[in-house]
Amino acid sequence: MDEADITQARLEREEALRRRLRPAPALPYCGQCYWCGEPLKAPLRWCDADCRDDWERDHARRA
Ligand SMILES: [Zn+2]
Repeated sequence: MDEADITQARLEREEALRRRLRPAPALPYCGQCYWCGEPLKAPLRWCDADCRDDWERDHARRA
């Protein structure tokens, strides 16, 4: 393993860590909350962190 491999491995580990902390799925704005259906202004996709967290938990369970 040379230095570039080590750097690459570290970047991948950091990226994985970041993703676990903040899964933030790339969803398009659809005009309403993905969790409860409340109408929202662009570019919001959830009313608040609670809706987002509930949706992410449900999404992770189904994935
Ligand atoms: Zn909501």
